[in-house]
Amino acid sequence: MAIQTEQTSKEIRQQLEDGKRLERAQAEWLWHNASDQELSELSKIVRGRFFKADEATYLLMRIINYTNVCVAKCDYCSFYRLPKDKDGYVRDKEYIFSKIDELVAVGGNFFGFNGGFNPKLRIDYYVDLFSSIRKRYGDTIEFYALTVVEFLYIARLCQLSNQEALKMLKEAGVNWITGGGAEILADSFRLRHSPLKYTVKEYMDTQADILDAGLKTTGTMVIGFDETLQERLDHLDTVRKFQDERLQAGKEGLFSFLCWTYKPYNNELGGEEISSREYLRHLALCRIYLDNIKFMRTSVLTQNQAALNGLNYGANDFDIPWEDEVTQLAGAVIEKDVERVLDYARQAGFNPRLRAVNLPQ
Ligand code: SF4
Repeated sequence: MAIQTEQTSKEIRQQLEDGKRLERAQAEWLWHNASDQELSELSKIVRGRFFKADEATYLLMRIINYTNVCVAKCDYCSFYRLPKDKDGYVRDKEYIFSKIDELVAVGGNFFGFNGGFNPKLRIDYYVDLFSSIRKRYGDTIEFYALTVVEFLYIARLCQLSNQEALKMLKEAGVNWITGGGAEILADSFRLRHSPLKYTVKEYMDTQADILDAGLKTTGTMVIGFDETLQERLDHLDTVRKFQDERLQAGKEGLFSFLCWTYKPYNNELGGEEISSREYLRHLALCRIYLDNIKFMRTSVLTQNQAALNGLNYGANDFDIPWEDEVTQLAGAVIEKDVERVLDYARQAGFNPRLRAVNLPQ
């Protein structure tokens, strides 16, 4: 048995060094059999196809939660309030501008807008918000306007086709819609925990519509609920196939992939957090498996210092987040000392550089 293990490990290493792809059964084998060191080394082989060994980039960013009202009722969510709850909110533009100004003052220029499925907010609210932001800040900042699932909810609520809704957002100055809301792209998982948050097909079709409309989007994943290894692999398979189809057709694909971890506090599902070790092993598997996505990101928001060690498990990029109510309510702790976070990256052996997104370098 030991001989077979050694042979399989050598075969996989050779395969990756030859620029070949990891198959699903091999990913499963690695998960069960590879040491942490091996996974790190294998992830570096694929990372090395895109980046120099000590290269790493980051964004200083803030998530702005514009509303906490949501009717999707995912059981793992610690953030949402129902429409009649007294502590539900919708932020006005002045509040949002003040959040932007605060981050700009400390050198940040990237924002993510994340709220919920709020039936009171029609597309006019978003068009007004995003065009006002563009008018006030021009191209000195950039933002993820919404997640894929929020976008789909709004389009359906307003009885617009995805194409119609995307055209309106694009005209309002939107360049990016983040791949948030994917969690685990396996319908079995979605039925268990978030039946109102769309099927895998609905989610992926919307990703394709976003890209076809000329906007950019990203791949995401969240692990650490009760998902099985097969559901995790289903997710990676779905994303890899999607990216293959896009790139082989000469179309724009997903810009990056970010996996973060579930925080189990203050919600219906509860449970225990997975270890950072498990996160890093999974991150390495993502890097090895998703060989058609260049940017592999590691989650400082949910993994703090351990996330920077993710640069040794295949990641090349990270956010330094300033705020995100959704994960903070679920137990995430934000580190606002930017230099300290960068030092963690340096201690891990990397030379982190601030990355521009649609902005002059
Ligand atoms: S995770 Fe998102 S979609 Fe689900 S209940 Fe929370 S805010 Fe709503």
